[in-house]
Amino acid sequence: MSEHIYTIEINEHFGKKCGCPVCSLYEMLEKNEIDTITGAAMMEPSIRIETNRLGFCEKHFNKMITNGKRLPVALILQSHLEEIRARINSSRPDGTEKYLNNLKNSCYVCSKLEEKMKNLYSNIVYLWKNDENFKKLFSQQPRFCLPHYQALLAASKELGRKDRAAFCEALGSVTEQSLKGLSGDIDWFCKKFDYRFAKEDWKNSKDAIERTVEALTSNYPEKHNHDI
Ligand SMILES: [Zn+2]
Ligand SMILES: [Zn+2]
Repeated sequence: MSEHIYTIEINEHFGKKCGCPVCSLYEMLEKNEIDTITGAAMMEPSIRIETNRLGFCEKHFNKMITNGKRLPVALILQSHLEEIRARINSSRPDGTEKYLNNLKNSCYVCSKLEEKMKNLYSNIVYLWKNDENFKKLFSQQPRFCLPHYQALLAASKELGRKDRAAFCEALGSVTEQSLKGLSGDIDWFCKKFDYRFAKEDWKNSKDAIERTVEALTSNYPEKHNHDI
């Protein structure tokens, strides 16, 4: 067990009882990381070496750009470009190909977040075991998305056999309830295309596709042009 950090944040985000609480914690950590990288840490030489080496994925380039601070992003890109050109200009084609393949699959923000999320999962499991109030709060969640369901199942290996069974039961029960709800909404969505149900109310199913994709991937899809 590493340090017990994020206790306050975990309680706060689980306390909202709105959507997947781990997605909400991830967004908080992601925002902090983006703010740091385009703020105070921007000129830190040790961080610059890492951002030059790892680069950023498309999602996190976009987050940095929408963060609104133009100059820090340009300065990060300036030295990143320098490093990329130096690497390309000093390598043979095979070396360049390998370098670009690695660069394509690496991201400074993703790698920082991966480390932090590991800690977070571990602390959620720790709180569940040691705090009765949190144990109750855990079972009152509206849902866990599938990627975070998987991550919490993996983290639960830290528990003893009996505790692990109870944790997985609580986690599975929240997830099944939410998936059952989505199945119902998707069923109704499909039925609405049958002329016999055309005049019925849409109930809760208008955005059933988007909510299902969110539950399967952690991400709510971007706006589309369909009426329904
Ligand atoms: Zn999630
Ligand atoms: Zn990334």
